[in-house]
Amino acid sequence: MTDTLTPILTKFWDAPQSWTLATYEQHDGYRALRKALDMAPADVLGAVKDSSIRGRGGAGFPTGMKWSFMSPPDGGPRYLVVNADESEPGTCKDIPLMMANPHALIEGVIISSYAIGCEHAFIYLRGEVVHVYRRLLRAVEEARAAGYLGDNVGGKGVKVNITVHAGAGAYICGEETALLDSLEGRRGQPRLKPPFPGAAGLYARPTSVNNVESIASVPGIILEGPDWFKGMGTEKSTGFGIFSLSGHVANPGQFEAPLGITMRELIELAGGMRQGHKLKFWTPGGSSTPIFTEEHLDVPLDFDSVAAAGSMLGTRALQVFDETVSVVRAVSRWTDFYAHESCGKCTPCREGTWWLRQIMNRIENGQGTQDDIDKLVDICDNILGRSFCALGDAATSPITSAVKYFREEFEAGMHTPAHVLFPPEKSVLF
Ligand code: NAD
Ligand code: SF4
Repeated sequence: MTDTLTPILTKFWDAPQSWTLATYEQHDGYRALRKALDMAPADVLGAVKDSSIRGRGGAGFPTGMKWSFMSPPDGGPRYLVVNADESEPGTCKDIPLMMANPHALIEGVIISSYAIGCEHAFIYLRGEVVHVYRRLLRAVEEARAAGYLGDNVGGKGVKVNITVHAGAGAYICGEETALLDSLEGRRGQPRLKPPFPGAAGLYARPTSVNNVESIASVPGIILEGPDWFKGMGTEKSTGFGIFSLSGHVANPGQFEAPLGITMRELIELAGGMRQGHKLKFWTPGGSSTPIFTEEHLDVPLDFDSVAAAGSMLGTRALQVFDETVSVVRAVSRWTDFYAHESCGKCTPCREGTWWLRQIMNRIENGQGTQDDIDKLVDICDNILGRSFCALGDAATSPITSAVKYFREEFEAGMHTPAHVLFPPEKSVLF
């Protein structure tokens, strides 16, 4: 079973001082950059396009296509912005990647910048993770001192600089245009799209906003070639990805595997469910994606198969819950989160998440009323597709899917509090 794993980005996470330039170079670090600098930028872009890699931040938009959608060079600045504002509940792949292997991201940034004609790239990091911020700053310094960054990268006259920017802790700043507003020094709120950032992004200049894992995957694609990448995964979801298993499995952690692996295989790799317990529900891609149950254990975890089964691959944040967990209480916590993080720009999400929170809290406390479930579903219908950005839609996913699979638990919330039905001390997590 272990040969199902493809440790690439995670290959030497356990090595002593894995985050240093010396360790990275011992593992072929910056060889891809040397190879890329001997290629024309268009060929580097072409290789990424040929690999068919789809964005690893959740939406799965093809990375090479996103780059090629940028407005053509006009002599002015063009930007690469790495979205390192990882904050989806359950999502925990980019932060360990940047802690254990920051140079994979930095090498990816340099190669990607070269491909799209960017001389100044930004890494927008979640402000709370000060330890990651320090690690990235140190790694950028190391790369600069080694000649991989600056005005003459690799002695080839190529100019690439990186600024690491720490955000101020708002989930909405992970939405790419809110992130750009925040980076420009304004309050982070989503912008109207189109124009997409590729046409008018940072400072209204052509900008590509890409997830950490997407960019960190670029050196491998350049070094080993697009066919090597396409040799893993499925036809429409090529390559590998980091699957983050948390919750009630015996050994939670990061499992790097080809896209298309199933949850059944991953749970087995994680040592099975915690002893004496069985699976109740799980999220394929964090709290924004409709929940799955045991019946979905054999769904291939690729973009299209998960969508066909009624959810989203998202960020591969696989949160596992056993039979001791109240689905109402779990969903209620996520609803609190979305209501708190709603930026307030549009009415369906601002008002709707507030109402969802009132009703979910009522049901959780055993004080639900007869028509609360219909009201919940109706409010979700009025948020979905009517909100300005994906956050509003995301807030509805756990609720509507939980009602679909566990309606009886919502009905029980009309008379019995969740903590009585599911004593929290038994589930440990909630
Ligand atoms: P989206 O589908 O609107 O866009 C995805 C990317 O493709 C963007 O970069 C966008 O600019 C680009 N794009 C889409 N259509 C385009 C076009 N016609 N021309 C040019 N570029 C185009 O999705 P989104 O709103 O950016 O992101 C939603 C996703 O974010 C969700 O799937 C969710 O899983 C994920 N998410 C991740 C986190 C996290 O912590 N990593 C947090 C919240 C949400
Ligand atoms: Fe803001 Fe929510 Fe509207 Fe997005 S959907 S713009 S987070 S209020």
